[in-house]
Amino acid sequence: MADPSGLKLRGYSHSDVDARRAAAEEFSGASLEYVSKFCFKSESASKNIENMIGATQIPLGYAGPVTIEGEYAKGRFLVPLATTEGALVASISRGMSVAESGGGIRARVFRDAMTRAPVFKVKDLAHSAEVIDWVENNMDLLEKAVSETTSHGKLLEIEPYPNGRSLYLRFAFSTGDAMGMNMATIATEAACREIEKHTGAQMVSVSGNMCSDKKPAAINVIKGRGKTVVAEALIPKKIVEERLHATVDSIIEINYRKNLMGSSLSGTLGANAHAANMAAAVYIATGQDPAQVVGASMTFVSCEDVDGDLYISVRMPVVEVGTVGGGTSLPCQAEALKMIDCLGAGKAKKLAEIVASTILAGELSTLAAQAAGHLGSAHSALGR
Ligand code: NAP
Repeated sequence: MADPSGLKLRGYSHSDVDARRAAAEEFSGASLEYVSKFCFKSESASKNIENMIGATQIPLGYAGPVTIEGEYAKGRFLVPLATTEGALVASISRGMSVAESGGGIRARVFRDAMTRAPVFKVKDLAHSAEVIDWVENNMDLLEKAVSETTSHGKLLEIEPYPNGRSLYLRFAFSTGDAMGMNMATIATEAACREIEKHTGAQMVSVSGNMCSDKKPAAINVIKGRGKTVVAEALIPKKIVEERLHATVDSIIEINYRKNLMGSSLSGTLGANAHAANMAAAVYIATGQDPAQVVGASMTFVSCEDVDGDLYISVRMPVVEVGTVGGGTSLPCQAEALKMIDCLGAGKAKKLAEIVASTILAGELSTLAAQAAGHLGSAHSALGR
């Protein structure tokens, strides 16, 4: 096998990528012809991947147009979706079209804070209490340490969780238009150096899993992580019957027995049909961190009869998205963000409202398909 060890892991050139791919082909015996064909400069992905050998293409479609009346997202949107699940885009599009007939989707961001929770080793309970006191009395110093690492990140609060000889400090930051995980991690490390210096507590890990990143966690459901977003729509009875071939009551019943009761019995965090599906498609299309679909999976769906019409809403306590940083500047992902005018500064909350609206549309369509007994047939017609 050709030796790729001299190639740069980062800051690589196109020829490094070619050489590494050739080595991978030789090692595996697999032809990587399609992997070799991509339309962006390798250098532009240098901060996003190491050992690059090419690119995987995922089909991109859109759902909509849908009218969103948010605080930040206002107007009609075609939402870009990257997926390999046949029927998903059609289903979301159907949900959007039905919501459109009911006057569109309304959305609001209620909280915006990215968290990192280091764990410290302390001597005993008294030491833990001393460290907590010191932190409470020295927020200015910690804010200063944070400000030396980032101009957009701001320390909002630090919540202590003492446990035996471990002390967890849950830092929350506003992170501007970045999703904020690198920013929050770097800033937390700087603050922790001060805490160690002044208290003698020893930081064992910058992430003590009380953050909690990329894992289903009740603390995120209750306190929120990233953006906490709620979206709602009112679908007239006539539209439910004519367009979704279901009744208001049957959709409410499915939501109750499946999303609420079934999720409760199974211990699911969240209560939804497939919020992760919509989140994955939008996140991959727009350069978000796909592992953070876990957060979006903890979505709660409510359905009610309001004067005979169907009221549906989604509460998303964990929408970890950004419109700068991460994968957002990769050329295809940046173009997808431009489709919804969400690239760059001042757009992150708008993107969060669009994510929640897309999830509402997908939930509506799937609940209706199950109420009408169409879920299997739609997948068999479109997805196989
Ligand atoms: P980032 O790309 O690391 O940082 C964002 C950068 O954008 C910062 O340098 C920031 O500058 C700058 N910036 C410019 N304009 C901004 C604006 N309007 N708002 C906010 N920042 C602005 O992105 P990140 O969101 O912090 O981290 C995302 C990446 O972290 C993803 O690639 C994700 O996969 C990865 N990730 C990391 C961890 C971890 O533990 N480190 C965990 C999960 C995911 P200033 O900082 O100077 O303000």
